[in-house]
Amino acid sequence: MKTVKERANAKINLYLDVLSKREDGFHGIKTVMHSVEFGDDITVSVEPSRESAITLSVVGNKFLPTDGRNLAVRAARLFLERAGLTATVNIRMVKRIPVAAGLAGGSSDAAAVLRALNKLYGRLFSHTALNAIAAELGSDIVYCLYGRCALCEGRGEIMTKIRTSLNAYAVIAIANERVSTPVAYRALDELYHDFDGSVASLGEEKYKRLYNSLLENKLDADSLYNIFEGAVLPTCEGATRARARLLEEGASAAMMSGSGPSVFGIFDTAQEARRVCFLLRGEGFRAYFAKLV
Ligand code: ATP
Repeated sequence: MKTVKERANAKINLYLDVLSKREDGFHGIKTVMHSVEFGDDITVSVEPSRESAITLSVVGNKFLPTDGRNLAVRAARLFLERAGLTATVNIRMVKRIPVAAGLAGGSSDAAAVLRALNKLYGRLFSHTALNAIAAELGSDIVYCLYGRCALCEGRGEIMTKIRTSLNAYAVIAIANERVSTPVAYRALDELYHDFDGSVASLGEEKYKRLYNSLLENKLDADSLYNIFEGAVLPTCEGATRARARLLEEGASAAMMSGSGPSVFGIFDTAQEARRVCFLLRGEGFRAYFAKLV
């Protein structure tokens, strides 16, 4: 049995705008994502067999489904289908990324499984072919195959890498609150009755500044933007408090990630980020130290 181990890093959104409501039901988005050195460990083993069988064991989260509802299992299934192969696939997951928090945990797990299987099968699929499988599975999964810093458009699956090298640290904080992605989009739809581009204009200016600063390996703190903050934060007292505390404790910027409810603060040094991380834990938040990578 051959085995490959992959890291499934979480991501944060440095910029997230919703530009349109599409006829296929998805929203058209424009987002800049950055991966962080904090995530799940995925170990994948394969063995040829007459019929395909996929098993998943999860350590660290006993509520996560381990059947076909789990994106990691769906990724393995689709990979085998597209490859025209049958195999026994065993996936072992050490789950650290908080679930449904706006950190793309599920997408990152699925991407890690695709990377692992493609290695195990001797790079059977080209980048383009693997991207197509990823896009079919979910909007963020193409980005998660590569991580680092990228602009993602369309429903998130059209990715352009941004070459930057930031020396920055994030503290990611979550209160005991839940926001499902569909509920966040509904809240956004109610706040902005139609997306004709006028809402986006506020973001666009920030996007240009953010992009230019990234090209200089810097992060212009005032240019971070997330359109969901206006729709989601008013209903999330804990996330609002965490965001305020991060700024009070010296973060150069603080912002909600994805559609929430996690928020992150940016720090220049690991020492400061660690200090604030422990402080927020003491105040009852789940808080994670994460270097941008
Ligand atoms: P995004 O930032 O891409 O919107 P998220 O971080 O908000 O994603 P996830 O943690 O990916 O959300 O979980 C969203 C849903 O997906 C949950 O309801 C969860 O049950 C389901 N799910 C399926 N597979 C996984 C997985 N491997 N890890 C986490 N959630 C998973």
